[in-house]
Amino acid sequence: MTEPRERQTREGGQNFDYLIVGAGFAGSVLAERLANAGKRVLIVDRRPHIAGNAYDCYDDAGVLIHPYGPHIFHTNSKDVFDYLSQFTEWRPYQHRVLASVDGQLLPIPINLDTVNRLYGLNLTAFQVEDFFASVAEKVEAVRTSEDVVVGKVGRDLYNKFFRGYTRKQWGLDPSELDASVTARVPTRTNRDDRYFADTYQAMPLHGYTRMFQNMLASPNISVMLNTDYRDIVDVIPHGHLIYTGPVDAFFGYCYGKLPYRSLEFKHETHDTEQLLPVGTVNYPNDYAYTRVSEFKHITGQRHHRTSVVYEFPRAEGDPYYPVPRPENAELYKRYEALARERENVTFVGRLATYRYYNMDQVVAQSLATFRKLQGEKE
Ligand SMILES: Cc1cc2nc3c(=O)[nH]c(=O)nc-3n(C[C@H](O)[C@H](O)[C@H](O)COP(=O)(O)OP(=O)(O)OC[C@H]3O[C@@H](n4cnc5c(N)ncnc54)[C@H](O)[C@@H]3O)c2cc1C
Repeated sequence: MTEPRERQTREGGQNFDYLIVGAGFAGSVLAERLANAGKRVLIVDRRPHIAGNAYDCYDDAGVLIHPYGPHIFHTNSKDVFDYLSQFTEWRPYQHRVLASVDGQLLPIPINLDTVNRLYGLNLTAFQVEDFFASVAEKVEAVRTSEDVVVGKVGRDLYNKFFRGYTRKQWGLDPSELDASVTARVPTRTNRDDRYFADTYQAMPLHGYTRMFQNMLASPNISVMLNTDYRDIVDVIPHGHLIYTGPVDAFFGYCYGKLPYRSLEFKHETHDTEQLLPVGTVNYPNDYAYTRVSEFKHITGQRHHRTSVVYEFPRAEGDPYYPVPRPENAELYKRYEALARERENVTFVGRLATYRYYNMDQVVAQSLATFRKLQGEKE
């Protein structure tokens, strides 16, 4: 007769209070918090490394790179920043992006300099507000990504900076995408050329992977890499399951696949100290790639060579971006209803909740999930 799992867990030698699937931000924050609260945790990832998409490592030339694309940390949450500060020191870094438009490299988000340089004008901050007002289109109800932009800066700036980029990135016209996608990019009337405006903008001083190593250092945490959880879930006794992979995969795609956008990364090393004027250059209208990023700007590393990454959006491949469209949100709701019925499983993170979250938002969501788990157990 098979013992109930709970009994095996209490009496067996090799047992864990929690099995966590995925060693990215969601899984690692929860592993750290639970281990700190005295729980025994097994965290598994099918990749050969921890840190999920935030993983960084040294390439063959000795340059610190982000294999899954440039990851820039920024947050307005003091709680999130203070929490992560237990595991890393920081290097202040403010990301800057230029867009290649009409033969010039212009600041994005669109600001006063973008408009002046693009149109050969000499407007002041006040005048550029009037300029935006004069070119903005009247949009009755802002529903799509196109509505957001043409309603703020008009059709010419929309066509030059947003339309092509969005079509490449998502394989869809902005008119087919939720307002949330382009609403993330602000428009400025001043000369602020920082990509983000958050209170805290900094990179982990020794990289993300080192920060994750510190998060997972507790003797209460066991890490298992190169392991799909499905291969061990029935053989390693554990209590609660925390799942941070794609929610549709968990349920065997029973309602069909949730659409994700993927990327192919082309990494290159150059025999020069610096290739780009800023961390990232966007190509909204030319080439098959959306952008190129140079890691040394972002990491602050000094090296006589430099490494860059080009991003080519793809329909197939690793799931990176949930595609924000109303019908996908509907499909996700059906999976979410199934997830709610699974009392012994908690779904957390970007893929498990099918949301376009930044790293800090995933940390905040995971800290909230920990508090909820603690509350339920008390
Ligand atoms: C190109 C790109 C650039 C980004 N840039 C930024 C940025 O600049 N700033 C920012 O704040 N955010 C950025 N993000 C978002 C950031 O990557 C995510 O917010 C964060 O990584 C989400 O963490 P997570 O733990 O939810 O997911 P992930 O990091 O994806 O971790 C999930 C883990 O689960 C594992 N897994 C899945 N299924 C299984 C299974 N069956 N068995 C075992 N393991 C499994 C996966 O291998 C993965 O390691 C970017 C994302 C992308 C794609």
